[in-house]
Amino acid sequence: MGFWSLNPYVGCEFGCSYCYARRTHEWTLERAGEPEGRAEDSSAWEAFEREILVKQAAPDVLLRTLDPARLAGAELVIGTATDPYQPAERKFLLTRRVLLALLRFEGLRIGVITKSPLVARDTDVLGRLAERHRLEVNISLASVDAELLRRIEARSPAPHARLRALARLRRAGIPAGLLIAPILPGITDSWPALAALMETGRQAGALFARGSPLRLGPAARAGFLPVVEREFPELVARYRMRYGGKEHAGPDYERALQRRLRSLREAFGFVGV
Ligand code: SF4
Repeated sequence: MGFWSLNPYVGCEFGCSYCYARRTHEWTLERAGEPEGRAEDSSAWEAFEREILVKQAAPDVLLRTLDPARLAGAELVIGTATDPYQPAERKFLLTRRVLLALLRFEGLRIGVITKSPLVARDTDVLGRLAERHRLEVNISLASVDAELLRRIEARSPAPHARLRALARLRRAGIPAGLLIAPILPGITDSWPALAALMETGRQAGALFARGSPLRLGPAARAGFLPVVEREFPELVARYRMRYGGKEHAGPDYERALQRRLRSLREAFGFVGV
């Protein structure tokens, strides 16, 4: 990967059907041994949403081991595999402590990715981080349609709450924008659907609006294809054809999607990517 990643939690209560991180949870549980009190019928698959492992020592380990020279200018991204502002963060304040630890450094490239409005709680620390580092906060949002989202993301925060958090970050001068991901073929990839996202993002003051198509690795495939069958049966054949046994939708689709995103960015006045 062209970046370093830091995930304060293993597992994610938001439980999105297309999430690619479920398998890593299985491996981590195996390494950690069975957590006490784990329900017998709770498979590692379900455990991803129910048994959240908390890396309590992460801020101390970060302070002890982070060597800016080793990053060599690469971005340190918080929240690449699990959401750093999922509900557990209210209790553990672990992501906040990681951010506070990063205040001891300077001149890094730091990214934060989240679907949660809880990120706005840390506006104070993020503002200080932005003064010391090159910071970007990515508010991840696949659609402005709350009902549609509920069919594919079990417990993710409502779109308006995420957009409100984005607006709050921007009012505080924090570099933040929209991460439109994953873009789901036939479900969230139409011009009007993407335009609605860009428009609301712009109104919230987003600096950027990036997007990337669904990747169907083994975990995402096992979680998402049953949802397509149940919720969007008319698309089953299209998904079989488009993805087959592959992880990507194919270069023709990805090129066309990026063209659409570029045109929309221009139309809504986003500069750069
Ligand atoms: S919020 Fe992100 S990490 Fe959490 S389940 Fe959804 S896709 Fe996975």
